[in-house]
Amino acid sequence: MLEDKNTQKTSLADLGEFGLINHITQYFNIENSSTIKAIGDDAAVLGASEKQTLVTTDLLIEGVHFNLGYMPLKHLGYKAVMVNLSDVYAMNGVAEQITVSIAVSNRFSLEAIEELYAGIQLACETYKVDLVGGDTTSSTKGMLISITAIGKVEKEDIVYRSGAKETDLVVVSGDLGAAYLGLQVLEREKQVFQVDPNNQPDLENYTYLIERQLKPEARKDVASLLKGMEIKATSMIDISDGLSSELMHICSQSKVGCKIYEEKLPLDPQVISACEEFELDSTMVALSGGEDYELLFTVAIADFDKIKGNPNFSVIGHITAESQGLNLVTRAGQEIELKAQGWNTKREQ
Ligand SMILES: [Mg+2]
Repeated sequence: MLEDKNTQKTSLADLGEFGLINHITQYFNIENSSTIKAIGDDAAVLGASEKQTLVTTDLLIEGVHFNLGYMPLKHLGYKAVMVNLSDVYAMNGVAEQITVSIAVSNRFSLEAIEELYAGIQLACETYKVDLVGGDTTSSTKGMLISITAIGKVEKEDIVYRSGAKETDLVVVSGDLGAAYLGLQVLEREKQVFQVDPNNQPDLENYTYLIERQLKPEARKDVASLLKGMEIKATSMIDISDGLSSELMHICSQSKVGCKIYEEKLPLDPQVISACEEFELDSTMVALSGGEDYELLFTVAIADFDKIKGNPNFSVIGHITAESQGLNLVTRAGQEIELKAQGWNTKREQ
C-alpha cells in the first residue's frame, strides 16, 4: 500500500494543457439534465430551475490537507469530491455538478494525474454528479486541488445552521472518530515503513478506520431518509472539523446552547479498541477527531418517536437556552463545558 506502483511515467509537458484536459476527461459521463454544456467551451452551461442553487468550494493543499505518503492519488481524488458534496448534503440539497481545478509540480506524471481523476470519476459516477469544468496549471511545489460543487434544493427544504430551537434534539448520522484514528494508524505505519521497508503492515484490525480516512462517503442518503420519516431537520451541518466545533457553529448561529451525553456518542468497536491501543480517550476522539463527513442536525422533540432506534442515526443530546452554554454530560453524570478542541482541560484523562 505504501509503495509507489507507478513504474511507467509520462511527462505532463509532453501533452500540453489541452491535451491533458481532453485526456483526463474523456471517460466522464453526463448524468443530470441540468447540465446543458459541460467541458469544451469557454464556460459550462447549466439549466435554470425553480429550485435554489447551492454553491460550495474547498481548496486542498498537499502537506496541509493531505499527505501523499499514505494517501493514494485515486483516494485523494475521491475524497476531495466527498468533502464538497458533503457540504451540499448538509444544506439538505442534491449535488449535480462539480468543477475541478488542480495545480501540480513537475514531479507528477501523467499517470499520477490519471489516478487522481480516476478517483474523481468514481465519485462522480457513484454520486451522480457531472464534471463541468475546471483548470489545470503548474505549481512550483506540490499539488493543490480546488473543487466547487453545485447543487439544487427546493426553497422550503433548505436547512441552515441557524434554525435550532430550545428543546430540539441533537442527532448525528453514522459514527464518529474513525477517520481520525485511521490517520493515526497510517502515520504510524508510514514511520515503521520508513525505518524498515520490508516490514509489511498488518492492517486487518483497522480496516474500517483506514477506509473512513482514505475513502469517506458523503451522506447523500440523509435527506431522503429524513423525508421518508417525515422529519424536517431544524438545523444541519456536516462534520468536517469534529463534533465539538460543528456544535459550536450550530449553537452560535442558532443562538442556543446544547447538552450532549457522552454515553450516546456513536462509536464503532474498532474506534474503541484503537483508542485503547493508542491510549486516547474515545470521547475526545469523537468530539474533536474530524473528517467524519457525517451530518449533525437538530429535529423537533416531537419527532423523537420517529427517529429513535433508527440504525442510521443517534440522538446524542438536546438544545438548551443560549445562557446555559455547550455542555457534555459524562458517563459519571458530571457536566463539562464543551470547547472547540473537545472540552476544557479540567477533565482528568
Ligand atoms: Mg461544512
